[in-house]
Amino acid sequence: MNTIYFDNNATTKVADEVLEEMMPLFCKLYGNPSSMHTFGGQISRKIRRAREQVANLLGCEPGEIIFTSGGTESDNAAIKGALAATPNKQKIITTRVEHPAVLAVCRELQNHGYTVVELAVDKQGQLDLDELEKQIDDDTALVTIMYANNETGVIFPIEKIAELVKGKGSILHTDAVQAVGKTPLNPAKSKIDLLSISGHKLHGPKGIGALYVRKGTRISPFILGGHQEAGRRAGTENVPGIVGLGKACELAEKNIKEENEKIRKLRDKLENAILQKCPDSILNGDKENRLPNTSNISFEFIEGEAILLMLDKFGICASSGSACTSGSLEPSHVLRAMGVPFTAAHGSIRFSLSRYNTEKEVDYTIEKIPEIINKLRKLSPFVAT
Ligand code: PLP
Repeated sequence: MNTIYFDNNATTKVADEVLEEMMPLFCKLYGNPSSMHTFGGQISRKIRRAREQVANLLGCEPGEIIFTSGGTESDNAAIKGALAATPNKQKIITTRVEHPAVLAVCRELQNHGYTVVELAVDKQGQLDLDELEKQIDDDTALVTIMYANNETGVIFPIEKIAELVKGKGSILHTDAVQAVGKTPLNPAKSKIDLLSISGHKLHGPKGIGALYVRKGTRISPFILGGHQEAGRRAGTENVPGIVGLGKACELAEKNIKEENEKIRKLRDKLENAILQKCPDSILNGDKENRLPNTSNISFEFIEGEAILLMLDKFGICASSGSACTSGSLEPSHVLRAMGVPFTAAHGSIRFSLSRYNTEKEVDYTIEKIPEIINKLRKLSPFVAT
């Protein structure tokens, strides 16, 4: 049985072209990019090229890119680095629906004397921008608001948010881990100061990421040690990872428009058929302002985990919340913040597609899901038979 992989917001397949670029860097070109000899020098050229590839995708200068170990480090470095560089201000504004890589950092900072405001979202998962504007005051060091939500795919109007935040003199960080490569974005043209990327969400390798730091934005280094990354992030570079991320960004830049159209069509076919064929199924999140690959659907009165197990028997991979929180039976904090009723939040499934999915896979899944839902509903203690 072939695996049908609809869990691309958790992680993605490394593209063949990416792996091909990475391979020589393990056993042939393994020099240290900081070494003086020619063998090392050629590696630092590879890093330079990768930095340009990432910068091209974001429409920024290569010098505005710092390589990190992934989305989590980029988020930590942005938040803690910006606060350390702004010691006279003590307030952070974020949202209730951020990934734990942001929320956990903000909540920890609260224990160290920072005031943290977590903005609410409405039923669509959208923010009230008037409320955001009201909350930004002279003490606000940082606003950290995600670009696109990992569970629902809901996209926040980050350019409008940037206008508001910069108009009031605070720093804006956005966790764009789910957005990069899935929707065109250009932090350099907007007023975003800091933006996080992760390689493994866009067909690059795991354990590599980047932080965009707008020229002139003051942040203190988060990891201290050697002089790598121009003194902004110490540690011998993960060269294969960096080269892989560069190639993944180049592929995304080249193909983003056609791929998005193809992925959106497949996602819509899957979503519309499920909503039509399964009674008491509800789409979670703003239908329009959403990533083209993500669909989060609640099936009332059944457990998401039971659905996942049955999908797994048919070789279909999906998710019942973010990968980081699965394993817990608590309903997702994102759906709770959106006011999704308990009976629906427990039965939510996230389907997230990629360029590698096919119409045949979608058709097969459309055939299996109603069968699974009917079977589970018959067993559900909440449904009268
Ligand atoms: N931010 C968001 C929105 C994510 O979805 C994830 C991963 O799921 C992260 C941050 C963490 O990224 P990484 O796995 O590269 O540490």
